[in-house]
Amino acid sequence: MARLNVSSCFDSGNIEVVAADEPGELRLRIRRDVGDRHAQWFHFQLCNARDRACRMTIENAGEMSYPSGFEGYRAVASIDGETWFRVPTTFDGTQLVIEHTPEADQVSYAYFAPYSFERHQWLIATASDSPNVRSEVLCATPDGRPLTLLTVGEPGDDKIPVWITARQHPGETMAEWWVEGFLERLLDPEDGASRALLDRAVIYVVPNMNPDGSVRGHLRVNARGVNLNRAWRDPDEDESPEVFHVRAKMHETGVAFALDVHGDEGLPYNFIAGGEGVPRWDESMQSDLDAFKSLLADLSPDFQVEHGYDVDPPGSADLRKCTDYVAETFGCLAMTLEMPFKDAANHPMPEIGWSPARSAKLGAIFVDAIRMTLAKG
Ligand code: ZN
Repeated sequence: MARLNVSSCFDSGNIEVVAADEPGELRLRIRRDVGDRHAQWFHFQLCNARDRACRMTIENAGEMSYPSGFEGYRAVASIDGETWFRVPTTFDGTQLVIEHTPEADQVSYAYFAPYSFERHQWLIATASDSPNVRSEVLCATPDGRPLTLLTVGEPGDDKIPVWITARQHPGETMAEWWVEGFLERLLDPEDGASRALLDRAVIYVVPNMNPDGSVRGHLRVNARGVNLNRAWRDPDEDESPEVFHVRAKMHETGVAFALDVHGDEGLPYNFIAGGEGVPRWDESMQSDLDAFKSLLADLSPDFQVEHGYDVDPPGSADLRKCTDYVAETFGCLAMTLEMPFKDAANHPMPEIGWSPARSAKLGAIFVDAIRMTLAKG
């Protein structure tokens, strides 16, 4: 019988093997992000295990950034790298145990369906092929990757500048699946809602704010160990060039609507967090936020408004975060969308949980939500 083999030496791979004992007992650890403060993302391939009942124990799960993220959570697995399904997973507060009997010689396991750098480049190339899109590399990341901005629609004085940023936290891959769905709909020339939106607005999209962290298999930081969503007040051109250059571009274009797309480890819901705690917050900003959230809840049963983060008390905003910085600086509707790693518990699909396709479909619905919101303004 061939020996079990575990590998993670590939794009977004992350696991360390403590021991792989026959017939199927694997002891594993998640590698920490650069800087040692964060960890939770995992992605590895198991080979030579067909038809063997495997018990994969991640021994340091309780030491991760959000241990509660593993409560009521099930890992995803894939044979072909395209279709991901959930596998039995338990967490006792210390160790995460994945139990699975592979039906193929090679199976991949991950925290959530990965979104590879290769697919990211395909997304950029495909979008750039549309006559409506310009792509621009804003800077090189610390590891030397292009940080790409897509501009959809024709900029002009009469156009409303809309900004979408995603995946500041690279392990939150659902954010880029969301972008894929959003762009696919936005770039469909036969979609009336998309055409109407682009008549009024120009949409700036950064599909992946943190390509280095994505490829390195990080949960939360870039190649320099910086949490980009704590760098907006004072970005450093060397340590957080991703934010430095996107922020500079925002100041060039102005921002009238901003959405920063994330995933949340703990809460099994789709929800939006606003900029309630910023110094300039007022009734009109509150009513814009409330209106958007309730519109989105009407448009998508997967979205809801009951569960989410505690609202920041007045004046307590963290202006190092994208949403708070943009809300305060531009006085516009700026929001953070959070999608679950687990499932949308208000509208669950237990077999697959929250998924790439569900993320993409939610992204597509934002074309309507943004169009209807700007039409009212
Ligand atoms: Zn995040």
